Amino acid sequence: MSERPNASSGATVVDLRSDTVTQPTAGMRAAMASAALGDDVFGDDPSVNALQAALAERLGFEAALFMPTGTQSNLCALMAHCQRGDEYIVGQFAHTYRWEGGGAAVLGSIQPQPLSHAPDGSLPLADIEANIKPDDAHFARTRLLALENTIGGKVLPMDYLAAASELATRRGLARHLDGARLFNAAVAINAADPYAAARQICGHFDSVSVCFSKGLGAPVGSVLCGTQALIGRAHRWRKMLGGGMRQAGVLAAAAHHALDHQVRRLADDHQLAQRLAQGLQGLPGLTVEPPQTNIVFCDVAPERASGLVAHLKSHGVLATGLYRVRFVTHLDVDAAGVDRAIAAVRQFFHAQA
Ligand SMILES: *Cc1c(COP(=O)(O)O)cnc(C)c1O
Repeated sequence: MSERPNASSGATVVDLRSDTVTQPTAGMRAAMASAALGDDVFGDDPSVNALQAALAERLGFEAALFMPTGTQSNLCALMAHCQRGDEYIVGQFAHTYRWEGGGAAVLGSIQPQPLSHAPDGSLPLADIEANIKPDDAHFARTRLLALENTIGGKVLPMDYLAAASELATRRGLARHLDGARLFNAAVAINAADPYAAARQICGHFDSVSVCFSKGLGAPVGSVLCGTQALIGRAHRWRKMLGGGMRQAGVLAAAAHHALDHQVRRLADDHQLAQRLAQGLQGLPGLTVEPPQTNIVFCDVAPERASGLVAHLKSHGVLATGLYRVRFVTHLDVDAAGVDRAIAAVRQFFHAQA
């Protein structure tokens, strides 16, 4: 396992609430400190321009746009694909439907058509097809298929992406991927060449949003990739939504450092998630879902659920949830921290037994 400079073993808190909690590494801070800067609203920031060009090139897109958040990046994408009165097909648990404050509807006048997920996180093709509305004044115009990968830590199979993409294209839908954790999926598919796997995933989409402030470890930032025309429209929405930033290169440099140096290490996070899941096996009242990437979900028997997260907190371990508790591994946790989490969970269940 690579060096984990900020890892939170020892006396400090083991924070498994999210992979957003990471601190920039020394190398990342150095890249930020030395970044060449300009005014990005004038298109003058060399560090922003370099990040956008590098990601577009790596993922196989014409153009890219740096955004302050993944929520804004997804919203700009939805608004660039859809007009007022259009709808997008999306999963019930997708971030772009459930976790973005209804922004597409509120700010874009775009109607979601949410579908239930299959157990592997995918949206069944027959359900997608059945929910594409005919051209009839009664219906919103079905315009876009929005998928997410990873979804709840699960990797959508590549042949599913190919089939969903084929269906969308055949039925005239655009295809957007919320790839907040695209590189976690890519590393899970091909740890030896995650950039190739990421590019292969992206080949099935017209636009992809990637978060740098999750497992990649940057403090701020997402990038939307797409065609020149789509990114041009998204650029207009970004300005309108208040996302035009000035010397944003100080942030883009952090993301660029992550892109160059902190992609392969996501495999370490996945290993730590495995270690955690294994350590939590066999407790009566706790069902551990085997992790595919860096997120471990545990279903807690209802009569035991109350108090688990509070117990963990009092033992310096942070997690989220109640009946379904979520642990997320990341750059700032190491094996010792994971072992502390395991011990704290086991103690809770043994004390209750
Ligand atoms: C975190 C996340 C986003 C974006 O979140 P922000 O906090 O707005 O950056 C989008 N989609 C998914 C799946 C995410 O996990």
